[in-house]
Amino acid sequence: MLKEIIYPLYVFLFLLGTIIGSFLNVVILRSERNQEIVKTPSHCDQCGAKLKIWENIPLFSYIFLRGRCGHCHKTISAINPMSEFLTGVLFVIVFWRFLQIPFFQASFTGISAMQWFINFLPLALWLIYVAVLLLISIYDIRNLVVMDGFLIVGFVAGLLGESLMFLIDKYNPIAFLSYYHNWLGSAGFFFPEIPGIFSNIAGLLIGFLFIKGIVWVTKGRAMGDGDPYIAGFIGFILGAPSVFVFLFMAFIIGGLACFALIVSGYKRTKQYIAFGPFLTLGGLLTFLWGEKILQIYFNLMMLN
Ligand SMILES: [Zn+2]
Repeated sequence: MLKEIIYPLYVFLFLLGTIIGSFLNVVILRSERNQEIVKTPSHCDQCGAKLKIWENIPLFSYIFLRGRCGHCHKTISAINPMSEFLTGVLFVIVFWRFLQIPFFQASFTGISAMQWFINFLPLALWLIYVAVLLLISIYDIRNLVVMDGFLIVGFVAGLLGESLMFLIDKYNPIAFLSYYHNWLGSAGFFFPEIPGIFSNIAGLLIGFLFIKGIVWVTKGRAMGDGDPYIAGFIGFILGAPSVFVFLFMAFIIGGLACFALIVSGYKRTKQYIAFGPFLTLGGLLTFLWGEKILQIYFNLMMLN
């Protein structure tokens, strides 16, 4: 019964992800070249030929055209299909994670449009968060610059969405919304009576100030000026105390990756590498398993 709704939604979200991924590619490439982003029609980067509809389908066109432009036959960068695929997969993973929340699955069976909206609001927000983080990370890897303008877009969307959820929960409490916040490892563990939005704001401050402190202490050698803003954004979307799991994960992954890069000779010790992608990875892992990690940690604390 549920499968008939859930499987088509998986397919839909994957396809939606490839379309968003394709748009992220356009934003990244045109931003790098200081070109207009939205109004210019899709065209081949090399010969400038306008793309026909069937040449512009995310992922599939690359496969049909065997990775070459249909007009000038030059190779299309493999980054395009890769980030389309990655966005599709991440959208599927976000949905999979939401299906694990009690009450989310139940919301599919015969309820009002209002309740559908309330249940899908956090899911939609997380799809926006993932798209913003992917955009920031790919751009950071390629250019060592954090596009803070897009962080602001994600932050404003999050602030509006979380405030709306706060109001709904205040005047018409719905089990799913409180579950949603507890499940992200937010206020639920320590202060179950505190609404999610305050946990989000605490996460924002902790994430931002912690990384800002490191930038200040190391005089910008360890991380760049943009990194505190990424950490603040991820702290906001995860809330407290999940923000601590996220920071811990980001440093473990970042540290191991730097060590591996230095040992393998890809990077010299003083060379700068983008820390944004490690923050993003730490944030996504916390989104997936942060709740479990926090539970294990608290259980250990209580045993001692
Ligand atoms: Zn071409």
